[in-house]
Amino acid sequence: MSRVAVLAGGVGAARFLDGLVRVVPPTDVTAIVNVGDDMEWSGLHISPDLDTVTYTLADLVNPETGWGLRGESRRTLDRLSELGGPDWFMIGDLDLATHLYRTHRLSQGDPLSAITRDLTRRLGLELAITPVTDDQLRTVVETDSGELAFQDYFVKRRAADPVHSLRFDGANSSSPAPGVIDSLQEADVIAIAPSNPFLSIDPLLSVPGVRDAVTSSAAPVVAISPIIGGQAVKGPAADILQSLGHDVSALGVARIYDLLADVFILDEEDASLATEIDAETGMRVVVMATLMKDVEAKMALASGTLKAALDAG
Ligand code: GDP
Ligand code: CA
Repeated sequence: MSRVAVLAGGVGAARFLDGLVRVVPPTDVTAIVNVGDDMEWSGLHISPDLDTVTYTLADLVNPETGWGLRGESRRTLDRLSELGGPDWFMIGDLDLATHLYRTHRLSQGDPLSAITRDLTRRLGLELAITPVTDDQLRTVVETDSGELAFQDYFVKRRAADPVHSLRFDGANSSSPAPGVIDSLQEADVIAIAPSNPFLSIDPLLSVPGVRDAVTSSAAPVVAISPIIGGQAVKGPAADILQSLGHDVSALGVARIYDLLADVFILDEEDASLATEIDAETGMRVVVMATLMKDVEAKMALASGTLKAALDAG
């Protein structure tokens, strides 16, 4: 029996969780998900990382993008564009239902965590998926062009601006959603998904109490590198490592997780960095294949990660 709490962003985390729920009972898994990317769009509350995780685990996700629904259309968005409305953020016709449902319930005063739980159950999922907080937390990106709201930086401007610093508005006055701290305290393993350390994991840790719950937990903490061969599998993680002055490699990621994790999962392509990471950080380094190209690879990474954590703990 191993209860696993996973610190999760979007696509990288969703793929990891998809493997994890196939190697342990899903009811033993809690995904604690980033909400720093959340935004208001045409009056609707959008939670991109929560949707990526739930759509992926429900086998509804668009395999090409890793987010959004499979077989999606954009008639509403095209019509909105004709009306002069915003069309730079892709909201598919079917995806819209999720945002309508969520926004309506938020407007009735229901917390995001309860709404997410209900959506998760509706989709037939047995794992717990929860936003890290029910409070508003928004990632703000400082660039040469000034401060950008997260989705302005990420989608509108295609993550092309070098990032000088990041801020998580609202984090200081936020509290963890119900069950978040308990799931970390009761976990047998805490996993930091192969997510963007700056845009996905840092916002989670900025919610008061979360970092402490991770570091004070009796469970081994295992982090999986999202960087393979000096590159992100997708997204701006490598660019941000660079612009914030970190080593653009799994070593750079390992230094960031040093005080948080006990075990670091390094891709076999980066095996030559193992000695250095081992010598420089307090983490035990375990090398394995981390590219989650198919379901077998996801399952192998999940079981290898759990084994590495439990061997250390
Ligand atoms: P986002 O919110 O959708 O950007 O998702 P995450 O932060 O969860 O994931 C983005 C990170 O996942 C990127 O830094 C990728 O390099 C990493 N990632 C995606 N797929 C894989 C994979 O198959 N293996 C590894 N090791 N990392 C991955
Ligand atoms: Ca995200």
